[in-house]
Amino acid sequence: MKIAFVGLGNMGAPMARNLAAAGHEVAGFDTAAPVPEGVVPAASAAAAAAGADVVITMLPNGTILRAVAAQVIPAMRPGAVLCDCSTVDVESARAVAAEAAASGLGALDAPVSGGVGGATAGTLTFMVGGTGAAFATVGPLFEIMGQKAVHCGEAGAGQAAKICNNMILGVTMIATCEAFALADKLGLDRQKMFDVVSTSSGYSWTMNVYCPAPGVGPKSPADNGYRPGFAADLMLKDLRLSQQAAEGADADTPMGALAAELYARFVEEEDGSGMDFSAMLPRFEKRHRG
Ligand code: NAD
Repeated sequence: MKIAFVGLGNMGAPMARNLAAAGHEVAGFDTAAPVPEGVVPAASAAAAAAGADVVITMLPNGTILRAVAAQVIPAMRPGAVLCDCSTVDVESARAVAAEAAASGLGALDAPVSGGVGGATAGTLTFMVGGTGAAFATVGPLFEIMGQKAVHCGEAGAGQAAKICNNMILGVTMIATCEAFALADKLGLDRQKMFDVVSTSSGYSWTMNVYCPAPGVGPKSPADNGYRPGFAADLMLKDLRLSQQAAEGADADTPMGALAAELYARFVEEEDGSGMDFSAMLPRFEKRHRG
C-alpha cells in the first residue's frame, strides 16, 4: 500500500518504521522530528498525502490534527482513508471525519494504547471509530502496527473508548496509590498488601500488572525510579479530554474530575512532570491528612 505518515514523534516514528519494514511504501512528514529508517521524506504533509491509499496522523492534539487535516484532505485521492491515531477530543475527531466524508474520503479515529514500547514492538491496541469500509481498508496496517484493533462504532467512538478507559485507569491508579500510602501508615507490609489485594476484590491492572510500589509485583516503572512508562503529563491530558467530553455530553463524572484535579496539581505545581503516572505513590507517602 502507498502510505503517508504525518507526525513522526515518539509514537509515530516506530509505527511508520514498522509499516515500511513490512514492505509498504511510506512517505513521512514532521515539522521537527527526523524521518525514520525506510520512510521516504516528503516536503510537506500535503506532498506526503498526494496519491496515498491511507494517510496516518500521529499528532499532539486536536487543534494540530484539524490544521493538518485541512492540509492533507485536499491533496488526497478520492476513496483514500485518513486514519488519525493521535489521542484527541471527540469533537475534533468527528469534525475531521465529516470534512473527509464531504471530500469523498474515508476517515477513522484510531487512538492506541501500549505506549512507545508497544509502538516499537508492533503490539499496540487500536480503538477505532468510523465506517466498516474504512476499517476494512486500514485493517492490514493495524495488524502490522498492533496486536488488536477493535471497531468501536461510528466516528468518534475510538476516542470515546480511549478516554473512558484512561479515566478508569487514572482514578484506579490514584486509589491504588492512596491505599498503599494508608497501608504504610497502618504498619502493613507492602508485599503483604499486594499479596492480599492482588487476589481480592480490590485487584486491578494498576495493582496486579503495573504496581506503583517498588520491588512489589511484576517489574514496572516504580522499579525504575518512576521513569515513564506512561507519563503523568499524558495521563493529565487524557483526563482533561474525558472531562471535556463529559462536559459536552452532560455526564456526571465526579471521580474523573477529582483525578484530573489531582494529576493537574501533581504535574503543574509539584514534581510530577516527566515522572510516570504511578509516582502518585511517593506523592501520597509524603503527605498528611488535610
Ligand atoms: P510526540 O510529541 O513525540 O510526537 C508528535 C509529533 O508531531 C512531533 O514529532 C511533532 O514535531 C509533530 N508535529 C506537530 N505538529 C505537526 C504538524 N503540524 N505537522 C507535522 N508534524 C507535526 O508525541 P507522541 O508521544 O508520539 O504522541 C503522539 C500522540 O499519541 C498523542 O496524541 C499522544 O497523546 C498519543 N499517545 C501517546 C502515547 C505515549 O506513550 N507516548 C501513548 C498512547 C497515545
